[in-house]
Amino acid sequence: MNSELILKVAVPVPLSRLFDYLGPLRGAVPAAGSRVIVSFGRGKQVGLVVATGTSSSIDRARLKRVESVLDDAPLLPAETLWLLQFTSDYYHHPIGEVAAATMPALLRQGRALYPSQERLFASASALPDDIERLSRRAPKQAELLSRLLDAGEHGVDTDTLSRGLPNWRRAAQGLMQKGLIEVVDAPLNDAASDILAATPGPSLNAAQLSAVEKVNAHAGFTVSLLDGVTGSGKTEVYLRLIEKTLEQGAQVLVLVPEIGLTPQLVKRFRDRLGFEPALLHSSLGDSERLEAWRRARSNDARLLVGTRSAIFTPMPKLGLIIVDEEHDQSLKQQEGLLYSARDLAIARAKHRDIPIVLGSATPTLEMQKHCIDDNYQHLILPTRAGGAKPPRMHIVDISPETGEDGIGEVLATEIRKHLAGGGQVLLFLNRRGFAPTLICPGCGELAECRRCDARMTVHVRAQRLRCHHCGASRPLDELCSNCGSGMRALGAGTERLEDTLSRRFPEYSVTRIDSDSMQGKGAMHDALTAATLGDADILVGTQMLSKGHHFPKLTLVGVINADQGLFGTDFRADERMAQSIIQVAGRAGREQEQGEVLIQTAFPAHPFWRRLVESGYAGVSADALKEREATHWPPYSRLALIRSSAHKQSDAHRFLDEARQKILKIASSAIRVLGPVDAVMARKAGRYRAQLLLQTDDRQALHALLTELRPMLEAARDARKVRWSIDVDPIALF
Ligand code: ADP
Ligand code: ZN
Ligand code: ZN
Repeated sequence: MNSELILKVAVPVPLSRLFDYLGPLRGAVPAAGSRVIVSFGRGKQVGLVVATGTSSSIDRARLKRVESVLDDAPLLPAETLWLLQFTSDYYHHPIGEVAAATMPALLRQGRALYPSQERLFASASALPDDIERLSRRAPKQAELLSRLLDAGEHGVDTDTLSRGLPNWRRAAQGLMQKGLIEVVDAPLNDAASDILAATPGPSLNAAQLSAVEKVNAHAGFTVSLLDGVTGSGKTEVYLRLIEKTLEQGAQVLVLVPEIGLTPQLVKRFRDRLGFEPALLHSSLGDSERLEAWRRARSNDARLLVGTRSAIFTPMPKLGLIIVDEEHDQSLKQQEGLLYSARDLAIARAKHRDIPIVLGSATPTLEMQKHCIDDNYQHLILPTRAGGAKPPRMHIVDISPETGEDGIGEVLATEIRKHLAGGGQVLLFLNRRGFAPTLICPGCGELAECRRCDARMTVHVRAQRLRCHHCGASRPLDELCSNCGSGMRALGAGTERLEDTLSRRFPEYSVTRIDSDSMQGKGAMHDALTAATLGDADILVGTQMLSKGHHFPKLTLVGVINADQGLFGTDFRADERMAQSIIQVAGRAGREQEQGEVLIQTAFPAHPFWRRLVESGYAGVSADALKEREATHWPPYSRLALIRSSAHKQSDAHRFLDEARQKILKIASSAIRVLGPVDAVMARKAGRYRAQLLLQTDDRQALHALLTELRPMLEAARDARKVRWSIDVDPIALF
């Protein structure tokens, strides 16, 4: 009998299965965790060996051999293979696509883990005298040789040379002809990290100490929810836990939201710990990403700070995971592989049997419920560290008098008072552009997106109308195409607010921070640095302003239009609104000054506001939890959403109608099937969208159903006409 091992290979195609191949004719059989090139269909793919076995459902004689093996030793350790499989099983996403989506791009493309690179060395016969001799007739050669002699036996790689000596190649040719230098193709090595001086932090207050002790009290897997207002010293608690883990020789992974990874945070880690943490985030280039990944994998990087996909990084000595701002929606990937980095972090910590700490000033109801049920420990930091006072919140009625510009008289008076007192003011409006609506007063014509069921936003600076849903844009028409009247911009976005403030407070500087004004690398950093130094008297911005940064002089926060979430359609609308208000309020008065927060609303009598002012986020979320229990929404039930979209509305619906039929045949009665219905925005970017919601108390039954359903959907007749996805634990129902 043929005992040759069969490779179970994950191939990046939308099919929920592994593919069997035989190993190469010559050479060793690649172990699980190694990449291979396989022929697939008419092309070639980079696949990942996830297991080896002795049997196949396909006749051995018909099995293909892998074309080549890319990794001599497994690229991914067993733990990462486990995580990929878990992700694939939990989110019902094909394993091959999971593997590809979670690997650094260069590895996914089949590049080597340590790409080899040319290095230049001075030859043994080269002497300092040669530099002298060359310096008059060939100064470039002299310069290059001098560098290489300085570098000694390590030599210099070509990237470094290109940065420092733009035309080094010609000089190198000359030197090579003279036999003074050598070029060697060597595998790239990561530079060792520099050790800097570590600075000690403040001594912890009682609540912080107790939090640290409770996390350290158990050796293995525990989940701790570190619940503390902005400025309560959560980061100090993280640092203490990180230090201890590093002392034990283990690695630490810190996950942060997309905008949370600020230079301020990184500097604080560096200053306190005395070395540069490895970073993984979206604005890195492919080689930089690979380097950080590689350094974490080799245990060279002891601390990795990254945004959501960093959760998939192999870390052989991982001893602690921290998820900062666990409530932040950017921790959930919203396209392609739909996963929650926070939830995977918890699963990974459990699998490794290590502690995980989730921090937030506004913890999600899901995590709070786990604390109530005693699955997780709730660690509360009740006050601001260092004695700073919490901000005072006020609700202001804007219904009677606020005009187009969005700033009522009460807020205007407060702004004037705080500015006169030398304070800084932040105005929060979660709507960019000049105005959300352009309308014709003559005939009522609205400027709408041609590809979405949505209005175009007016952008006056750019003189364009833009759709914030699909990115479409067109010139801003001044006159109605229908009746020729002049069009009018209704409502206020951050651009208009900026204009209003400049007009009403001409003696003060206004800085707008949103994704329109912060284009280009470094723009955000520069603006925030200026704002931190107090150079901007008035800051106007979106959500972007409410995270990560603190402004020492900030004493007043104004929420321009707080009503956006009050009557939202999503069951999480009130939780979300409370989170964004509390987060932005947390910017006020962090140091010496007590801050004020003014919330403008057209519904000042709404009980939500009383509760928020009187008992803060804890009060609002306790109410929301009761309501969720009564209405049976998460965390009191589990959801999965099947979405489809197509150019024809009927195609999108038919796919889900058929899915519904299949589900009704195979699902247990524990699962409620709601829909299909149109998505809240039924047409987006020219595609019609529909959805089918599954709700249950029985998580196992839901997973069993989805496991059976997914291959059926993959095989469905219409599967290629529509784009479809399964979203387990969706964070938004549209
Ligand atoms: P959070 O992460 O909860 O927003 P930080 O850890 O950033 O809070 O702390 C807020 C500020 O208070 C920082 O400037 C920090 O240095 C300071 N701080 C934190 N803990 C203490 C402490 N125990 N004593 C004095 N200052 C502290
Ligand atoms: Zn008109
Ligand atoms: Zn659009």
